[in-house]
Amino acid sequence: MHLTALSGGIGGARFLRGLLTHLDDDTRRSGRRHALTTIVNTADDMWMFGLRVCPDLDTVMYTLGGGIDDDRGWGRADESWQAKAELAAYGVEPSWFGLGDRDLATHIVRTQMLGAGYPLSAVTAALADRWRPPYDTEVRLLPMSDDRAETHVVVDDESSPAGRRAVHFQEYWVRMRAAVPAREVVVVGQAEATPAPGVLDAIASADVLLVPPSNPVVSVGTILGVPGVQAAIAGAAAPVVGLSPVIGGRPVRGMADAVLAAVGVDATADAVAAHYGARSAGGLLDGWLVDSSDKSSVDVVEAAGVVCRSVPLLMTDVPAAAAMAAEALDLAREVGR
Ligand code: GDP
Ligand code: CA
Repeated sequence: MHLTALSGGIGGARFLRGLLTHLDDDTRRSGRRHALTTIVNTADDMWMFGLRVCPDLDTVMYTLGGGIDDDRGWGRADESWQAKAELAAYGVEPSWFGLGDRDLATHIVRTQMLGAGYPLSAVTAALADRWRPPYDTEVRLLPMSDDRAETHVVVDDESSPAGRRAVHFQEYWVRMRAAVPAREVVVVGQAEATPAPGVLDAIASADVLLVPPSNPVVSVGTILGVPGVQAAIAGAAAPVVGLSPVIGGRPVRGMADAVLAAVGVDATADAVAAHYGARSAGGLLDGWLVDSSDKSSVDVVEAAGVVCRSVPLLMTDVPAAAAMAAEALDLAREVGR
């Protein structure tokens, strides 16, 4: 099987690690080999202290490659923060964004290679060469685009003439902790962006398309917003199955409800499914998994034309994420017939 997934950071990475674990079991049982292409959101990317930082790519790369700090969910294991302290001693801003010492090496290599003229997709492949995931399944990481397309969030600001201003997504998420309402989400540069090499092909040639429990707006939404991606999915032969990042009316980790509100979507499993839409009606999904505690959403989702099942969706550990992946592949088989 060739599987293709659209991923953000933590939610996507943890699901994909479960998926690879499940696929290893399958390979051991059946002898079948699989390949996974992950198309990763790059709209969180930013320049920080002169370095190009790609948070979601790095979270997926470190998680699948065994280098992640699992408690924090991002950054390197066994990290130290000497450089951060030194920058603070110089009074350099932004002080709200921490880059760990080990992690810095990744950004330095990336920035050097970008400076030498390599596109982000080539840089990503070079970095990932160090972090080869220890699974039977072959894994490929692709940025959604080699072009710069960055999410900004419009917030109220009484001191500006328009009464509002746009801040980079990282500033909204990390410095402001999404504590003020997001009035609008704008992905600057997206209309001119093109899919990175391999992206459209990975969608067209997939046997299964997966939408992990990533943020529907600022992770999956930004990938879908790259011109050409949505049309490629609409035309793909593979079934599309997604998993809800919302359980019991709340995002499982983090503050996704803030950006869902900005696009007028309730933080419920069925509202997120409706936001993605049924593939049969020009939307994204053939199948959708909601958590066992959201059984009442199943009928609502199915009435909108998406086949829906309720199963445990909490990624408490790798086996739990692997079980979710198994359920997603079962549903893909069912809707793909
Ligand atoms: P980010 O880029 O690091 O924010 O990561 P993603 O966009 O890939 O994923 C963030 C989303 O993952 C959040 O909206 C959470 O609701 C969701 N999430 C995190 N942990 C879990 C979990 O255990 N189960 C489910 N269903 N969703 C989760
Ligand atoms: Ca992210």
